[in-house]
Amino acid sequence: MARISNPLEIYKLLPQTNCRECYLPSCLAFSAAVIKGEKKLGDCPYIQTDTKKTETEVNVRQHYDEQRTQHLESLKKMISTVDFPHSRDRLGARIVGEKLAITCLGKDFFVDRSGNVTSICHTHAGLTIPLLSYILQSKGGSVTGSWVPFRELKNGTAMGPLFEQRCVKTLKNIADSNTDLFEDIISIFNGEKAENIFPADISIIIHPLPRIPILICYLKAEDDLESDLSIYFDSGAENHLRIESIFELGAGLVMMFDKIAKKHG
Ligand code: SF4
Repeated sequence: MARISNPLEIYKLLPQTNCRECYLPSCLAFSAAVIKGEKKLGDCPYIQTDTKKTETEVNVRQHYDEQRTQHLESLKKMISTVDFPHSRDRLGARIVGEKLAITCLGKDFFVDRSGNVTSICHTHAGLTIPLLSYILQSKGGSVTGSWVPFRELKNGTAMGPLFEQRCVKTLKNIADSNTDLFEDIISIFNGEKAENIFPADISIIIHPLPRIPILICYLKAEDDLESDLSIYFDSGAENHLRIESIFELGAGLVMMFDKIAKKHG
């Protein structure tokens, strides 16, 4: 069975002409849609024939979910090697009983020695994987206070277009049709309004992980000008999380915001 595990692998199989015959704006958007199970490989008329043939055997989404489960299990195993008391300051965490307490989006998440994560909030792989990765990968130290888009992070160039498509554009579309989104983000996720960082009608900062703040700037549509949205990371984010985990964190947040926007109508 063909093994397709991430959007970039799918992107490599495409002619990358952005012809839009799949009814999506680009081959990158198509790759992300396949991963999400919204499109099948065969929906691109130009994908390699042998790939189409194997497509019937492959449930890409299922494979992706399996990989995430495996990844989560391997992270959980590695957590047992972490010295919680000595890691507390490095992570900006607290020790509660025998657990590590980490504040994510204003809520406490508790991690035990086996890597199990509990919280009063719903926990899901989109947050649990970056959280455990943060515990394992963060080198500690303060945030730099300098904001950069994903593509300008040290290793962000290759995945930058995919991040733009999957996270930035998706969040812009959500914001365009749900004007209360940012108020929800502030009230539900403990976001704070930011002033005078970049020109924007709305700027908010959220803390999905203690040393990984995220700045979201939104410019409303005006006259003939389209709306615009940008997502910025602290320039030192890769001191705390590898680029793939930062991508996963961004994608998980956007998915969560989408669910909230739909719920609030
Ligand atoms: S139809 Fe295929 S080549 Fe054209 S944009 Fe979609 S994925 Fe890319």
